[in-house]
Amino acid sequence: MRALTWHGKHDVRMETVPDPKIVNPRDAIIKITSTAICGSDLHLYDSFIPTLRAGDILGHEFMGEVVEVGPGSTLKKGQRVVVPFVIACGKCFFCEKQQYSACDNSNPAEKAEMSEIAYGYPMSGIYGYSHLTGGYAGGQAEYVRVPYSDVGPIVVPDGLDDDKVLFLSDILPTGWMAAENCQIEPGDTVAIWGAGPVGLFAVQSAFLQGAHQVISIDHNPRRLELAAAKGAQCINYHEVKVREALREMTGGIGPDACIDAVGLESHGFALDNIIDAIKTEVRLATDRTHVLREVIMACRKGGRVSIPGVYGGITDKFPIGALMEKGLQVRTGQTHVQRYLRPLLEMIGEGRVDTTYLISHRLPLEEAPEGYKMFKTQQNEVTKVVLKPGWERQAA
Ligand code: NAD
Ligand code: ZN
Repeated sequence: MRALTWHGKHDVRMETVPDPKIVNPRDAIIKITSTAICGSDLHLYDSFIPTLRAGDILGHEFMGEVVEVGPGSTLKKGQRVVVPFVIACGKCFFCEKQQYSACDNSNPAEKAEMSEIAYGYPMSGIYGYSHLTGGYAGGQAEYVRVPYSDVGPIVVPDGLDDDKVLFLSDILPTGWMAAENCQIEPGDTVAIWGAGPVGLFAVQSAFLQGAHQVISIDHNPRRLELAAAKGAQCINYHEVKVREALREMTGGIGPDACIDAVGLESHGFALDNIIDAIKTEVRLATDRTHVLREVIMACRKGGRVSIPGVYGGITDKFPIGALMEKGLQVRTGQTHVQRYLRPLLEMIGEGRVDTTYLISHRLPLEEAPEGYKMFKTQQNEVTKVVLKPGWERQAA
């Protein structure tokens, strides 16, 4: 089959690789009909996440048709399914608590050891996301093996086309959980750093969960326009000082809740960001955490901080005093996608959440390397790229 493989920093290629096979009784094989490039994939493309190996197949946002099932799968051939990016067994201590991204079984022992060293305990498996998360082949391919297929995938009705439901795989539940982690109360102002796909779904989710005012912060005018179209007020951090603007927009007290939907590759020319950029370049640091610092400083006293943005290692210059003295509450995590699939599918069906407006490009899978480059270098216009395995290649 054809698949998008990683070979090094900014080097991803379409290659012919062996077809996936059923390995365990609960496996299913899915023929991919749509798959997307995520901001998280950019962290791999930019080589911020360690333990990738040349030839690894990327992609964790995908859906398609069931073409083969093991004897323990509950799926049936021909069903259309969306697959959560988090791989979870459904039976361990953590899955029973619906903390699926903490699943204790989906990250094979020999790989889990690496994540145990990095994080104290091993985390769950994730498709196409390095050997820290299991080394599973991803779904930017024609076919993918789905383990624990009786737990993860959700069967979707034929009436809802791929574009409407694809983002159930990751960014829609991620935006939703980011807002839920803000424990929004009536009258709240929620400020959201990053108007990428995760930030944009967090805007919609915050309103649906009762926020009075949502403020979106980015420097890409097009992305901010999309946030404004969903009711957010906007701050372009190239034009104004973020903390001053937030103070003004909140009657001097600061936002009740703040979401970091940027993660470890924060841009900008603040002093701490420049130092982080130099240190990560020479491998003296792992993450550029400017946004997280700004979030903690900007949040009102007693407020709530939600961090869907991905971080990988450790950080310094961290405003621990502000966090403690202001009594902030912090919630974060890889999304427990399985927990949100049914309610969000229902909301899509009812038209309460708009999932297609942020798609700027639909490309044949064969053009995935161009898709990565565009999503990386033209962030303003390229808001979300969906790849279609069945489509003919157009680019020269
Ligand atoms: P993206 O790269 O498309 O968007 C990030 C946005 O942040 C960009 O628009 C960029 O301009 C903006 N930004 C950069 N520096 C900024 C700053 N200083 N202030 C304000 N905005 C700034 O990514 P995305 O797909 O929206 O994902 C966002 C983050 O969420 C990534 O870190 C991704 O890895 C993470 N993520 C987490 C989960 C999870 O389960 N927790 C799931 C999916 C994605
Ligand atoms: Zn993703």
